[in-house]
Amino acid sequence: MVHVTRIVIIGGGPGGYEAALVAAQLGAEVTVVDRDGLGGSAVLTDCVPSKTLIATAEVMTTFDTSYEELGITVAQDGGADAAKVIGVDLGKVNRRVKRLAIAQSHDITQSVTRAGVTVLRGRGRLGSGGQAVDGSREVLVDAPDGTVQSLRADAVLIATGAHPRVVPDAQPDGERILTWTQVYDLEELPRELIVVGSGVTGAEFAGAYQALGSKVTLVSSRDRVLPGEDPDAAEVLEDVFRRRGMNVMSRTRAEGAKRVGDEVEVTLSNGQVVTGTHCLMAVGSIPNTAEMGLEEAGVKLNDWGQIQVDRVSRTSAPGVYAAGDCTGVFMLASVAAMQGRIAMYHALGDAVQPLNLKTVASNVFTDPEIATVGYTAADVECGKMDAVVVKLPLRGNPRAKMQGIRDGFVKLFCRPGTGIVVGGVVVAPRASELIHPIALAVDANLTVEQVASAFTVYPSVSGSTAEAARQLHIRKRADGES
Ligand SMILES: Cc1cc2nc3c(=O)[nH]c(=O)nc-3n(C[C@H](O)[C@H](O)[C@H](O)COP(=O)(O)OP(=O)(O)OC[C@H]3O[C@@H](n4cnc5c(N)ncnc54)[C@H](O)[C@@H]3O)c2cc1C
Repeated sequence: MVHVTRIVIIGGGPGGYEAALVAAQLGAEVTVVDRDGLGGSAVLTDCVPSKTLIATAEVMTTFDTSYEELGITVAQDGGADAAKVIGVDLGKVNRRVKRLAIAQSHDITQSVTRAGVTVLRGRGRLGSGGQAVDGSREVLVDAPDGTVQSLRADAVLIATGAHPRVVPDAQPDGERILTWTQVYDLEELPRELIVVGSGVTGAEFAGAYQALGSKVTLVSSRDRVLPGEDPDAAEVLEDVFRRRGMNVMSRTRAEGAKRVGDEVEVTLSNGQVVTGTHCLMAVGSIPNTAEMGLEEAGVKLNDWGQIQVDRVSRTSAPGVYAAGDCTGVFMLASVAAMQGRIAMYHALGDAVQPLNLKTVASNVFTDPEIATVGYTAADVECGKMDAVVVKLPLRGNPRAKMQGIRDGFVKLFCRPGTGIVVGGVVVAPRASELIHPIALAVDANLTVEQVASAFTVYPSVSGSTAEAARQLHIRKRADGES
């Protein structure tokens, strides 16, 4: 008799649905339980909607910052300036955003069901009985109609994601005080937007709304924006933000936000009160791990409520795996998907490569974008990695000059002896596309000589990556001699 492994996945975001596809391919009987719709927050409220909004913002910025230099004329209407001539209809933009998100969720549902996966709508949790004698576990599904269904699984994957953190004295009302999931209901562009939080989400929205035409104040509790990113990259972005008129407030926290008529007052830890028409709170997220019977089943959580996992996505409870934002390992859709796939390869006895975070490419979708892979400047500074660094400003790149690009750089890190590329940062328009050759080099342990010897198109921004590699070839020789 052929033994079919039963897999139940709780959560249908990238961590869950990518795992489901792999498990079905490997011949398992797979059920995905999701309460909001396949694609998860990544597709319905976070990644896909924000990047669709940013697509409009990107066109606005590119035009606004370069049209004069590139010789484009704009018909002036009664003395109005160009920004007013090319204004945005936010209601229309947001309807497009939501349409795309729903279509994407629908596409994912189709491909998952076509692969033979059963999709159940409802809230999943672990049954309290622990592991049965046959090693299986119980998953309970609370359906929207109030019924409860019991499923048995040989392996369970928890991929329930996370939700926005709320500051007690800044309760979102969905109209003027908003979380990032609520901004797509706005019909009109906020005149004055206060963005609280200068991590990736805060910086992306601050940059996007500024490009769309809002007057933006960005409240950062740290010395600079994007405290987790490459310091040179963060400096470029903060400089661009300020030059374009953003009010960036550093080293101060928002303690509360309240509505006063049609305005919002945000009280800061330094006693100041900032006023705007809208406030977007982007102060981190909370894992969706409460009331799921996890600890009762032996699944250990850390102090932030995130599920502790190893590099093959195992939790502390046998037969229970976890992937994605509920583990807090690296809050990216690509990492969630990889963790989910790895869990299934492991559970179903296939060849498995443990998760390697040093090859993850990530991007901040601001203008300019900031893309990163591998070891960082902080790793080099604290001695975690011995590396030689070269940073080439894009000002000297011929294509960048032609396109009127002034801000940005390419930075490469390589090992001093071998010249193996161990990391890189690209700050440029479409850096998300330009980082790929560096990510390939890091993943395949290529040397700077190998990167430098591959042809690049002339003229191209990626020419700067090859040039940085050439300069590292000289630098590492000089370092070796000294
Ligand atoms: C504004 C924003 C922009 C982002 N942009 C990017 C980006 O550009 N690129 C990138 O790589 N990452 C991005 N991220 C991060 C990315 O969205 C997450 O890392 C990704 O969504 C994690 O996937 P996941 O599968 O863990 O969870 P999710 O995508 O959150 O999916 C979890 C699913 O589980 C469901 N669920 C929760 N609890 C239960 C339960 N008990 N029972 C059943 N279902 C349940 C939820 O409803 C949801 O559908 C962004 C995040 C934010 C906030």
